[in-house]
Amino acid sequence: MRTIRTIAEMRGWLGNLRAEGRSVGLVPTMGAFHAGHHSLMREAREEMDAVVVSLFVNPAQFNDAGDLAAYPRSEANDAAEAADLGVDVLFAPPVSEVYPDGFATTVSVAGLAEVLEGAERGPGHFAGVCTVVCKLLNIVSPDVAYFGQKDAQQVAVVKRMVRNLDIPSKIEVLPTVREPDGLALSSRNVRLSPADRERALGLSRGLNAAKDAVARGERDVLAVRTAATAQMGDVDAEYLAIVDPVSFTPLTTIAAPALILVAAQVGPVRLIDNVVLQPVPAPVAT
Ligand code: AMP
Repeated sequence: MRTIRTIAEMRGWLGNLRAEGRSVGLVPTMGAFHAGHHSLMREAREEMDAVVVSLFVNPAQFNDAGDLAAYPRSEANDAAEAADLGVDVLFAPPVSEVYPDGFATTVSVAGLAEVLEGAERGPGHFAGVCTVVCKLLNIVSPDVAYFGQKDAQQVAVVKRMVRNLDIPSKIEVLPTVREPDGLALSSRNVRLSPADRERALGLSRGLNAAKDAVARGERDVLAVRTAATAQMGDVDAEYLAIVDPVSFTPLTTIAAPALILVAAQVGPVRLIDNVVLQPVPAPVAT
């Protein structure tokens, strides 16, 4: 596996591949790899001729300087893991390569990017995500870019950006990878103390309770939320929302597949998680 740090070198490497008509997959990441990242890389490896993994801790999407400073960084381990998974290139540019002097352009998605994570982390968060993802898609021009359902709103925002800007890459979304006890894998989990790790299980427990309630036939959002909060222990959610999975409009009744999303501060770490709520068909009147 090769590590590339400049856009010029990345384009040079891709030029040779394209000339041979090979397909390219991109997995955008901020590093500190875990099994969630691995699953995206594995899928890309299976489907594409060449796999590029980008590793860039994007300062533009952090609203909190402390969170950016504390973000785990482990490039040497990441490179070894990516190489083991058959990744061809780790694209790990420095900040000055992505945001050189004179950088003044921002890509933002209205509406969808302003609720939930957008409201909590501020309007700059998804603008930072979109700007860097747009740049990565322009630099690599992948046939397919791979994202995790763990960041459900990010997926919705990126898909909308790609559609609105006619970016010719397919966005493929893979399921959230969890620990056996349900905790969604996150690079931030390493900062949880054992006690906080235990409390953090409240997020997935709450989401699963909502999923079970909907699978049993509950369609009323208030009742589903109540079922979720009852299982969240002392986790104090920043938001617990049930929304349409494409528009992120809040729902009052669950009549079609919906998303329940939660964010909560647990000790030093802000965690997010979500699951799809799949309503059972309404009984047919006889
Ligand atoms: P990050 O490095 O946190 O920016 O994540 C890079 C990619 O991995 C994003 O598309 C995330 O949604 C995805 N990802 C992060 N955690 C998980 C997980 N537990 N399961 C599946 N994908 C994940």
